[in-house]
Amino acid sequence: MTIPFLNLKRENERYAAEIKEAVSRVIDSGRYILGEEKDRFEKDFAAYCGVKHCIGVGNGLDAIRLILMAYMEQGVMQAGNEVILPANTFIATALAVSQCGLVPVLADCDIATCNIAPASVKEKISSGTKAIIAVHLYGQTAAMDELKQIAGQYGLKLIEDAAQAHGAVYKGGKTGSLADIAAFSFYPVKNPGALGDAGAVTTDDDELARIVRDLSNYGSNKKYVHEYKGLNSRLDEMQAAVLSVRLKYLDKDNQRRKEIAACYSANIRNEDIVLPDNRNKESHVFHLYVIRAKEREKFRAYLENNSIRTQIHYPVAIHKQPAYSELKHLSLPVSEQLQNEVLSLPFYTSLTDEELYRIMETVNNYERKS
Ligand SMILES: *Cc1c(COP(=O)(O)O)cnc(C)c1O
Repeated sequence: MTIPFLNLKRENERYAAEIKEAVSRVIDSGRYILGEEKDRFEKDFAAYCGVKHCIGVGNGLDAIRLILMAYMEQGVMQAGNEVILPANTFIATALAVSQCGLVPVLADCDIATCNIAPASVKEKISSGTKAIIAVHLYGQTAAMDELKQIAGQYGLKLIEDAAQAHGAVYKGGKTGSLADIAAFSFYPVKNPGALGDAGAVTTDDDELARIVRDLSNYGSNKKYVHEYKGLNSRLDEMQAAVLSVRLKYLDKDNQRRKEIAACYSANIRNEDIVLPDNRNKESHVFHLYVIRAKEREKFRAYLENNSIRTQIHYPVAIHKQPAYSELKHLSLPVSEQLQNEVLSLPFYTSLTDEELYRIMETVNNYERKS
């Protein structure tokens, strides 16, 4: 029997009854945009993250865009300014910057955590730099103390891309509360996932929160009065209701993720495989379980032949993407190594013990040189 990389149907089945009830509630309410469900989820998610404000938006890409747009409205940055982000991330982080007329500047990553390397960030700072986006990749918080120190020293805004790390804790603080402002995605594979596109922005900054909220709603907080050239990017009532169900179980789901990761890490023994960094148990919620393998394609094909499906996050670093051909000359050796070596094993809370055992045994039996 094939073990898929992710079984979303099985993941959502656990909460199907509650989700169906939530969806029915929305249908019966007659209100589908900007209603009570969004208000409730925003309040609950802000409290969960430990911040004053949460603004539900259309998706994670827009969450980052809206943050940058708000800073531009404030005059903190303007078109042509630079924003530093890691080369090993989902492309949305870079696209948000480009779409605002800002310039993405790629920093290299740390080989152990796969997260943005503070030393590389420092090297990339110029007189036009205005912000750093710290992506908490694979569910593990970035090196926030070092990044904060750099941001403080150079007067830069520090933004979290927390799309993969809801509920991860860094020195007592949850993601969403670790920088000036944060972006989340609730795309269905994220944890918690909606049943469609959804995202959020969190911050303690009253003024910034107000601007993001207005920008997400056509730049308006009063019907037909438009203070900004905003987007239409709002968390809809259906997704908000679904997310309220998922949020209740987020800590439990994260706990299960940590257990599965600990099980993999304790039992996978293969000299050709490097296991993920997990020194700090709190700071990693394992959105993905990402190993590294020399001759990855061979290893991946072996797993495939044993009916175990895997994915690669990410097979192409940002500066190697056709959309960013202007950056192709860059040399970011760690990010390039990661793109060639990383492999994500099947990983979801509803994996059974039998499935886990089979995956670990298959990985342990792999011989690269055979
Ligand atoms: C998923 C993701 C996004 C984008 O979120 P969407 O909701 O798909 O727009 C941004 N950054 C990272 C790191 C992500 O994983």
